[in-house]
Amino acid sequence: MAKYVYDFTEGNKNQKDLLGGKGANLAEMTNLGLPVPPGFTITTEACRHYLAEGAVPDGLDQEVAKHLSALETVMGRKLGQADDPLLVSVRSGAKFSMPGMMETVLNIGLNDESVHGLAKQAGDNERFAWDSYRRLIQMFGKTVLGIDGDLFERALDALKGERQDTELGAAELQRLVETYKGIVRERTGRDFPTDPREQMRLAVMAVFDSWNAPRAILYRRQERIPADLGTAVNVMAMVFGNYGDDSGTGVAFTRDPGSGRQGVYGDYLQNAQGEDVVAGIRNTIPLQELERIDKHSYDELLGIMETLENHYRDLCDIEFTIERGKLWMLQTRVGKRTAAAAFRIATQLVDQGLITMDEAVMRVTGDQLAQLMFPRFDEGADRKRITKGMNASPGAAVGRAVFSSERAVELAGQGEDVILVRRETNPDDLAGMIAARGVLTSRGGKTSHAAVVARGMGKTCVCGAEELDVDTAGKRFVAPGGVVVSEGDVLSIDGTTGEVFLGEVAVVDSAVVEYFEGAEPADDLVRAVDRMMRHADGVRRLGVRANADTPQDAARSRRFGAEGIGLCRTEHMFLGDRRQLVEELVLASTDEERRSALDKLEPLQKSDFIGIFQAMEGAPVTIRLIDPPLHEFLPDIVDLSVKIATSRDVTDKDHRLLAAVKRLHEQNPMLGLRGVRLGLVIPGLFAMQVRAIAQAAAEVPGARPEIMIPLVASVQELEAVREEAVRILAETGVEALIGTMIEVPRAALTAGRIAEAAEFFSFGTNDLTQMAWGFSRDDVEASFFSRYLELGIFGVSPFETLDREGVGRLVEIAVREGRAARPDLHLGICGEHGGDPDSVHFCHEVGLDYVSCSPFRIPVARLESGRAALSGGDSDTR
Ligand code: ADP
Ligand code: MG
Ligand code: MG
Repeated sequence: MAKYVYDFTEGNKNQKDLLGGKGANLAEMTNLGLPVPPGFTITTEACRHYLAEGAVPDGLDQEVAKHLSALETVMGRKLGQADDPLLVSVRSGAKFSMPGMMETVLNIGLNDESVHGLAKQAGDNERFAWDSYRRLIQMFGKTVLGIDGDLFERALDALKGERQDTELGAAELQRLVETYKGIVRERTGRDFPTDPREQMRLAVMAVFDSWNAPRAILYRRQERIPADLGTAVNVMAMVFGNYGDDSGTGVAFTRDPGSGRQGVYGDYLQNAQGEDVVAGIRNTIPLQELERIDKHSYDELLGIMETLENHYRDLCDIEFTIERGKLWMLQTRVGKRTAAAAFRIATQLVDQGLITMDEAVMRVTGDQLAQLMFPRFDEGADRKRITKGMNASPGAAVGRAVFSSERAVELAGQGEDVILVRRETNPDDLAGMIAARGVLTSRGGKTSHAAVVARGMGKTCVCGAEELDVDTAGKRFVAPGGVVVSEGDVLSIDGTTGEVFLGEVAVVDSAVVEYFEGAEPADDLVRAVDRMMRHADGVRRLGVRANADTPQDAARSRRFGAEGIGLCRTEHMFLGDRRQLVEELVLASTDEERRSALDKLEPLQKSDFIGIFQAMEGAPVTIRLIDPPLHEFLPDIVDLSVKIATSRDVTDKDHRLLAAVKRLHEQNPMLGLRGVRLGLVIPGLFAMQVRAIAQAAAEVPGARPEIMIPLVASVQELEAVREEAVRILAETGVEALIGTMIEVPRAALTAGRIAEAAEFFSFGTNDLTQMAWGFSRDDVEASFFSRYLELGIFGVSPFETLDREGVGRLVEIAVREGRAARPDLHLGICGEHGGDPDSVHFCHEVGLDYVSCSPFRIPVARLESGRAALSGGDSDTR
């Protein structure tokens, strides 16, 4: 029979799938001999069963009862026992950390009798017992019974007045408990459940249910966490940080998760329980001050942090509680960190001898590298600084101030950049945080909700800007000096320094970009990036090329490490002044007219190619012959019709143009006369391009052109074009590979035939995705993609990350059959997927020779190619 419950002594850190991250790591700490309150974990499998069947699996209740009674024996107390109660927490914990997204209930086991027993246990500390009881009803009411948490908050606020919660006395808290019970009765029509086992059972199910809470669903989508994993539930003996000033609770990082620098980073709160720190109820003190308050516990904590770092060989974050001078560990995990911290920490760990360079490269991601390439604020610019908060998540964000999540979503939907300003954020603000360019809060430290979530998303965040008086209802805040910022006013926030500026501040390139541009590494961060890039380049199998159409882009891509151009589009070369010549070409009614237009285009094309060949210094350049429908180069049909209808000086040419535009008008241009079809229909067009390529190559020593035919669906199309190209190349004595895009499903399915006429394939995965799914990107992204994401039909847009299941299958077929027909077939990808981390891993796994992407994504593709080679098929790019 399945085992659904594991004692903390039974599990280990590698069982995150089954025990969730929290449970697996609690077990690991228990087995390391660290002081962890005893407890047990109910598996994710039980949760999945519950969510699918609407009921807990058979045998679970008995198994839980068995583990609970073992826990009672260890603790020497029974759950909720009137004179000497055991209390437990019931905590969520999924495979991937979802901070604050799911539920936890503390102090389970309290009722009108056991509250007295708890007071006695605590040396007749009535205040503590009633405080714990009111917390139970509050958390249980909100989480398990689904009562609006504000009702409890308001009752507490009314009682507190201007005081801190710690100043409330036992009698007041007892009255608060009565008020809370009244709220429960009124809202649910039932009394607060006093049976401890009933409390526990309901709490377990509430944690299961919280897997599907809207905010959890949203968070998973954002973080690309699969929707079907479920959460584990941890039941654990309570320890109390709210006994008095000799107790407290805190969170800590073994290194600074913002910068990666070594040192002691954390927040501590005296006389408080669990959630208080993260929620920013009272202001925390820096962890260093614990040394003064309780040196013994502080030293022990630092020792444990070192043990954990050496054991996990990575930055860890932890939750702990001190109960009357005794330290307890309540959670640890390999901690989230900013992009800069990730690079710094990985190289520090290498230097400490804890990890290898291979491992270091696996510890950083292409997305993090991309974040480091973001621009930052120009220090020389004119800026009006209004305050400074904590630098919670780096980046430079500019936008209009908004004071609610809803408004952030609304304005962002209208295309506005917004900065979400809150006193503190909570999980309900998630949608607004996603929509905003940056987040600014006036309360809470680096471990507050805003900070943790923003760092996870790579979103700029300044938190704890305490000088700001934020009035969310009035949609404004007041900064020092009486500066008032209202909704709609522009703010600039710097998540790297914590500074907040009024108005728009200019931004400049990042030091990492300057390094890629050729500057010497400026600081330890850039040196870390440099080491990672060198190592990734050393281990990767995939080549990296650029999509570049101009000598400028070509040169930049070369500096960024491109080994060639994988896609040089020629269509932009027909725009601007040259539009005239295209019009001539389209209007040509005789061979002579057509030839004359082509003859004028040829030298222009040639000079374009010369510039690119020169910039690439002998690296291969794949040039795609003209691809888009011709009408894209002609005047708009409506504009032209209006002109003809209303203008006085309409020429004969205008009429001919209109006729041509009408003739070329298509219902579905994406599926119309374009690509190779154009080449076959307009005599001389492709020949002109091939001749221009050949002549340019002849003039640039070492030039390595590759000629790529777009939109081929059948080998006959390719053969026809190829024949002519081969003849022209022979005439000029220039050598060039001739190959094709694979972007029409039929081409993928007949790749064996097509390979007979192609020396290389380049997967055009944008078109291939459109045609495989049967939707056009321009039409669908705005109209229904968000719905599809909501419905879970996509985890992520197939235009962003290659759809392995469908489009990937076409690629696999083409690779296999193409190589079978021509073993030395050269294979690459030039769709936008070439710069997407997960898609790069796919390209590695399927055996392509290179990926090609936009110049700015090249470093990302290099790094991810290295990571793909090191991960041996385990392509987790998170
Ligand atoms: P989250 O995943 O949102 O951090 P947790 O399950 O970690 O939720 O619990 C919330 C808070 O309650 C944390 O600060 C945690 O340390 C505290 N907590 C959980 N279990 C216990 C316990 N048995 N004794 C004391 N505090 C606890
Ligand atoms: Mg926690
Ligand atoms: Mg295409």
